[in-house]
Amino acid sequence: MGSTLIHGATVLTVDAENTVHTDGWVAIRDGRIDGVGPQSTRPDTSGFDEVLHLPGHLAMPGLVNAHTHSVMVLFRGRSEGQSLLTMDGWYNSIREPELSLIASDIAPAVALSAAEMALSGTTTFCDQYFFAEEIAGAVKQSGLRAVIAYGIVQLGDEQRGKEELAKATAFLAQQRSADGRVIPWFGPHAPYVDNTEDLLVEEVKVANEYGVGLHLHMACGPEDNEETLSRYGTTASVALEKIGFFNGRIHAAHCLDLSAEDIAVFARAPNASISHNASAGLRSGREGICPVVELRAAGVTVALGTDNVAANNSYDMVAEMRVAGLVASHRERRAQPLSSQDLIRMATIEGAKALGLDHEIGSLEAGKAADIVAFDFSGPGYSETPDPETLLIYSGSGRDTRHLWVGGEMLVRDRQLMRRPYDAIRREYSATYQDFWRRVAEAKKTKEVA
Ligand SMILES: [Zn+2]
Repeated sequence: MGSTLIHGATVLTVDAENTVHTDGWVAIRDGRIDGVGPQSTRPDTSGFDEVLHLPGHLAMPGLVNAHTHSVMVLFRGRSEGQSLLTMDGWYNSIREPELSLIASDIAPAVALSAAEMALSGTTTFCDQYFFAEEIAGAVKQSGLRAVIAYGIVQLGDEQRGKEELAKATAFLAQQRSADGRVIPWFGPHAPYVDNTEDLLVEEVKVANEYGVGLHLHMACGPEDNEETLSRYGTTASVALEKIGFFNGRIHAAHCLDLSAEDIAVFARAPNASISHNASAGLRSGREGICPVVELRAAGVTVALGTDNVAANNSYDMVAEMRVAGLVASHRERRAQPLSSQDLIRMATIEGAKALGLDHEIGSLEAGKAADIVAFDFSGPGYSETPDPETLLIYSGSGRDTRHLWVGGEMLVRDRQLMRRPYDAIRREYSATYQDFWRRVAEAKKTKEVA
């Protein structure tokens, strides 16, 4: 795969000490980080296939988007005025059209989502949806790294639950990619709402056998706790802990309404994490806001995610860091309880940890996979400051991604995708979009006639 030396940039290592080299270097060799340091320790440029001198740039670990539904880019702008964190809002804006999705819609939609993510600094994402095989195929073509959680939806049908689990297990067995970039998981949509207790217990057992995790929605709508409160008098987290669910690797999205007891459940669990999707949560109009500061104080890993594009309209994780920072100040009623360094960690190493990948990605340290983004800080907004993290989060944009590597492979060079041009991806997507919404309209007409 060759070797590359990046130098002259401000390098955020996101190591345990948050070391920053204001005039630093990163060496990439055979897909891995070979070394990082200040200019005084830079190796000779002659030993590299490519040398990129990047003054006025910020080089850092690629961003980790810890909660997405990449197919749902097809629903961009289609649920305005609806809360996607309630059953009603989801049903009214998403459920009906979703029934018109066919397998051939998936790859063009995922390709566009992956392109938008790569072009805004994201190297890894955690996706959950049905059509998991098609998603995995499209992600492999994009070159990005992703956990893909097979969406298990039971809807009160025991037989369907069994069949879904068998299919999801086959997905685990078959989809791990040779280069390790695609990692299959289970994705029970939401516990109790559409996955029964027995099925959840079985899912954890199988996931542990395969050494993978479960990605699900928790405590995002009033429905999430209603069922368990009426049946057992406890919240979903507490009920799930009792049945051994938290013995698995559990990565939960949203978590807007968590009691002190729920936070303790997450803190006690060996491998539980949360994806805080600040934009999607705010947009829903729910009163609850994920208690990030308390969770972190209790030792819980909290990552950041955009959620689906209908609930956010953007994959820009730099914007997501900004919103997460602002909403934490508002919730805690004090200035910046989450520092810019905290937010950078949540969008990189904490995201990696949530996905069980922190030994491999999430920081620029020798031996890790070379998942790196270089932001161009030469444009408007990026004036002098002693604080590069704040400059990126509160003054910058993911769209200033100039170069991006996954596993040492340059996927973005000079703002252009390397594997397949953005224009081609966009053309194919637009044709799919037109076709999909034409089918949705036809299905609606047929239903009305009937
Ligand atoms: Zn979601």
